[in-house]
Amino acid sequence: MSEISKEYDFKQVEERWAGSWDESVYYFDWNSSAPQYIIDTPPPYPTGNFHIGNALNWCYIDFVARYKRMRGYNVMFPQGWDCHGLPTEVKVEEIHGITKNEVPREEFRRLCEELTAQNIAKMRVTMRRLGFSNDWSNEYVTMMPEYYSKTQRSFVQMFDKGMIYREDHPVNWCPRCGTAIAFAEVEYDSRTTTLNYLRFGSDLGDLEIATSRPELLAACVAVAVHPEDEKNRKYIGTEVRVPVFDYPVPVIADEVVDPAFGTGVVMICTFGDKQDVRWWVEHDLPLRQAIDREGKMTEVAGRFARMKISECKDAIIEEMRSEGTIYREEPLDQNVGLCWRCKTAIEILSERQWFVKINPGEIIETSSEIEWVPEHMEIRLKNWTGTMDWDWCISRQRIFATPIPVWYCKSCGEPLVAEEEWLPLDPNLEMPPISCPACGSEEFEPETDVLDTWMDSSISVLNVTGWLSDHKPRYPAQLRPQGHDIIRTWAFYTILRAKALVGVRPWDSILVNGMVLGEDGHKMSKSLNNFIAPEEVVAKYGADAFRQWAAVGGSPGSDVMFRWKDVVSGGRFLQKLWSMYRFAAPHAKRSEGTAPNQVDRWLLFELSQMIEAVTGSMDRFAFDEAFRAIRSFAWEEFADNYIELVKARLYGPDGPEKRAAQATIYEALETLTSLLAPFTPFIAEEIRMSLAGESVHTASWPEPPKVLPQPEGSLIKDVAAAVRRYKSDRGMALNAPLAGIEVYSELDLETADLAGSTSSTVAVKRGRPEIETRAVEVKPQMKAIGPVFKEKSGEIIRRLREMDPKEVARMAEAGKVLVDLGGEVAELAPGAVEIESETLSAGRAVDMIALPEATVLIRTGT
Ligand SMILES: [Zn+2]
Ligand SMILES: [Zn+2]
Repeated sequence: MSEISKEYDFKQVEERWAGSWDESVYYFDWNSSAPQYIIDTPPPYPTGNFHIGNALNWCYIDFVARYKRMRGYNVMFPQGWDCHGLPTEVKVEEIHGITKNEVPREEFRRLCEELTAQNIAKMRVTMRRLGFSNDWSNEYVTMMPEYYSKTQRSFVQMFDKGMIYREDHPVNWCPRCGTAIAFAEVEYDSRTTTLNYLRFGSDLGDLEIATSRPELLAACVAVAVHPEDEKNRKYIGTEVRVPVFDYPVPVIADEVVDPAFGTGVVMICTFGDKQDVRWWVEHDLPLRQAIDREGKMTEVAGRFARMKISECKDAIIEEMRSEGTIYREEPLDQNVGLCWRCKTAIEILSERQWFVKINPGEIIETSSEIEWVPEHMEIRLKNWTGTMDWDWCISRQRIFATPIPVWYCKSCGEPLVAEEEWLPLDPNLEMPPISCPACGSEEFEPETDVLDTWMDSSISVLNVTGWLSDHKPRYPAQLRPQGHDIIRTWAFYTILRAKALVGVRPWDSILVNGMVLGEDGHKMSKSLNNFIAPEEVVAKYGADAFRQWAAVGGSPGSDVMFRWKDVVSGGRFLQKLWSMYRFAAPHAKRSEGTAPNQVDRWLLFELSQMIEAVTGSMDRFAFDEAFRAIRSFAWEEFADNYIELVKARLYGPDGPEKRAAQATIYEALETLTSLLAPFTPFIAEEIRMSLAGESVHTASWPEPPKVLPQPEGSLIKDVAAAVRRYKSDRGMALNAPLAGIEVYSELDLETADLAGSTSSTVAVKRGRPEIETRAVEVKPQMKAIGPVFKEKSGEIIRRLREMDPKEVARMAEAGKVLVDLGGEVAELAPGAVEIESETLSAGRAVDMIALPEATVLIRTGT
């Protein structure tokens, strides 16, 4: 065996393995009949940076994938890339100094694809460096025709089933992004605004209304009062006139109106908020759209047309103030819906859009067939399901996304949805191969809207399980790992789509991971300056150390704080493992039929217990538990206890005793590398390869050795540890010989390893020792004596030292110590002296160590 370096060089080892591993051993076998374990991994957005939150999630996935593979499963750990979306469009505009409308649609799309491909390449490097066992034969890229043809076919199939429709309907709209967005993309935040009290003209005298959005006066279609409102109900059924714009609107009764808010009268606009939409539908009100797609006022706003919303608001308030229409203004705290991406306040516009029907009951029922880990995360899905006021709006007014495969007949206006066989296609580039089924015209307008990116990623599970492929489909997948921040989107939409398209639950289990917090406890972000990139950690301490942080940092579901100290201690463990291996390697020998002694059997029993515990933890995704169990076994039981105990045998003459220790070391090392393989794949491989000449990543998960509990070996280990502590407390070298050790217990202990590890003769005896104690020295306690006896203290202490320690001990026991000062007797409390005594056994001085199962006597004299 070649020389093993003293320091563990993580960089050299990790880079060497990352560059030489045969990744095909991680490929899923479509023809295998072994039980499958397909993981519906999250396809990250290709920003170019594989951030630490991704890395945490991927560590969890890799722990599971490697473990399941070792357990004999046919594992798929695919890698997808969720490419489409606004951030890439914005980045491309930035890089090339253009806006998307300045270049042809196709050209803009090509630039987006180019940037995305570069970013994916960067992120793949980081993933390989982190040691993830991805199945690259099952990589998918949502912007590629192979994938988006499936997205388009899913659209067509759901349209044919009546689950997708197109309609004029209010939608959430981001005026800055210039696109419709889904409820899941609306964030709420509280803002302080002004509640304006104004007067609507009426024959019954002015009606007072409070509103925070006077810029929507032009969109007012009715006002509502509570039917029991004493003051205002007389207006119900009449008409009032909208100030500034001076047109009549009806006053209607509705029980949802809160008579205690403002003046108790509500202005219904199309649309101020979701409640307006509900009223608009229930009371069948007309539509007055005062805001356009760019967030500017429309012609409906008369002389305010084309002003921005905020300009219009200021102008209208100014006008009403000067006319006295506003008679009061007060601050109001309000919850405002914002675009999740750019934080612009969303508007509700009525638009012709494509929608996917939502069936909340079916989603909740399907969700209950799935095992949620941790269980409480399912509540988030259930709470979200049913809060949406309308269906999932899936059309977006962007470019870099999957095209909606639809045209509209120029002569009759009927939509023509593509046949599945025509796909993939972009209706902006191709015309349908048939004429209009309704009127026979051959002239079409393409649908320029594109699909919400969740339409791509919500079929990831179908894609990886072989839907619409040459393989026999294998849904449901076994596991969906994902963050809790996308339960209402990715998890929700996936359940909806799997059920709609193939009629089954998408996965058996969903594993929800938390977010990564910075060391200051806040969410990691560049602006907070608490941002850490995985590459930085890997450069300093290595991937194996980083992965240990992920393993011990927290349990799945809870937010995990990034802590350098976890990484540092991960690095320390790698060095400890390496030193242990460096010592043990020359002694580790595989051999059959050896006769393990009590100490060997104790270690094997501990090993079997540990394997069982770790296996149970892995099955529950309790990675922190699993890793800690392995680490404490390696560090404490194996290195600190077992190796210390058997050193003498290892360096002793050849024979069955030595071979038993060598075989035990081999088994322990081999097992440790197997158990560590999912967590620290690099060092596990390095050790296993040089130990056994085989890759640990194609090895099986270890079976626990069949060994009964070993109280004798366990006690020998405790005694040896106690003697080590004894020596170290006294500043003795650990190999310093002692005059003799006697161990009293109820067990028949073998002495060889104890004698070897303590460098002393060891006698083992049954029962308890006969011992006596004898006082040998008096130690006066100045702190107790000084304050009481002042200037006499010196004399007292001198006298005490001359007295017979046994006599002083007897007096202290009785409650007071009398000191003769020559004519005067000082009376000391027992605390004024400390008695040093020695323990005697059979008349010889010994130190005694009392253990729960044994008494150890160490001879101190000769
Ligand atoms: Zn936006
Ligand atoms: Zn037609």
